[in-house]
Amino acid sequence: MAVLDIKDVSKVFSTTVAVDRFNLTVGDGELVCLLGPSGSGKSTLLRMVGGFETPSAGVVAIDGEDVTRVPPEKRPTGMVFQSHALWTHMNVFKNLAFGLKLRRLPADEIKRRVDAVLELVGLGGFGHRATNQLSGGQQQRVALARSLVLEPKILLLDEPFASLDQHLRERLREEVRDIQQRLGITTLFVTHGQDEALSMADRIVVMRDGKIEQVAPPDFLYRQPQTPFVASFIGTMNLIEGVVSGGQFSRPGLKLPLPIADGPATVAVRPEALAIVKSGEPDSARIHRITDYGAHAIVDLELPDGFRLKATVPDAREWSGVQAATLAPRAFAAYRENVVAYRS
Ligand code: ADP
Repeated sequence: MAVLDIKDVSKVFSTTVAVDRFNLTVGDGELVCLLGPSGSGKSTLLRMVGGFETPSAGVVAIDGEDVTRVPPEKRPTGMVFQSHALWTHMNVFKNLAFGLKLRRLPADEIKRRVDAVLELVGLGGFGHRATNQLSGGQQQRVALARSLVLEPKILLLDEPFASLDQHLRERLREEVRDIQQRLGITTLFVTHGQDEALSMADRIVVMRDGKIEQVAPPDFLYRQPQTPFVASFIGTMNLIEGVVSGGQFSRPGLKLPLPIADGPATVAVRPEALAIVKSGEPDSARIHRITDYGAHAIVDLELPDGFRLKATVPDAREWSGVQAATLAPRAFAAYRENVVAYRS
């Protein structure tokens, strides 16, 4: 049982507010991803949970115990950094045993725990390898094992796959999620990759300028983004600005019923939710390009005022030679600052 509470935590570096009155509870066994653009405060927040940075204000508590001013080595947290910094003068076994020796565990207990955790990360029998004889993925597994062997209550991961190639990254994502679920370890994970967050997290925190923009499970975040920022940050999104008048949203080439008060609004439509119909109308969207991906195709469209949109169609062949289309969004979100309407 390990619950992480971050209460009203801020961090100010001279004039920069890196984290701004941040509140989050990570439940027992939950994996929460912090997702946001570079500079949004993700690493600073994670470092404050790990004890590598002291908050300017607020409280970090683990299982109800205030650890805000407890140094990293005395916290029940284990952190895996982007650059794993294994000790190259020690073999794999010694890298893992080091922390346990500091805790004065008996040698047979150390061996048992190191062997078990190496097995867990798929490196059984690798104890005698020099760390510089390992591939990038294996080194990252050792870094993870080095944290896990200390049996932390909370696992903290700071972009742990950033230096790996795409293929390896995808494999390690699945492995780490498996291990995390098997151990039931409460985990906070920093990434700027939306695919990583969508595929691994129980909940995603989208951060912007040190604040929470939205917290939600991946499917919810994808389908019901609360702000245009979240809408455009997760997945591909058409963000269309226009004007609402008499219950209708309009922009040259697009009209939609939208029963909200008159005024400007932004409509967000996923390419897969933007149905298109072949058209000969002069005021419809012009087809600019069709990219065939086999299983589906992406149609790039241009509205009469030059604004570009993307729509997904099942079969590129049905669109060959077609010049124009009318747009029929099936599902969308509408914003005036924050969300004002969803249609799904
Ligand atoms: P992210 O992890 O989302 O990229 P960071 O937490 O690294 O964001 O940074 C958030 C903000 O705080 C940035 O503006 C960054 O420049 C600033 N910052 C981070 N660490 C320091 C530091 N040690 N000194 C001064 N400013 C810092």
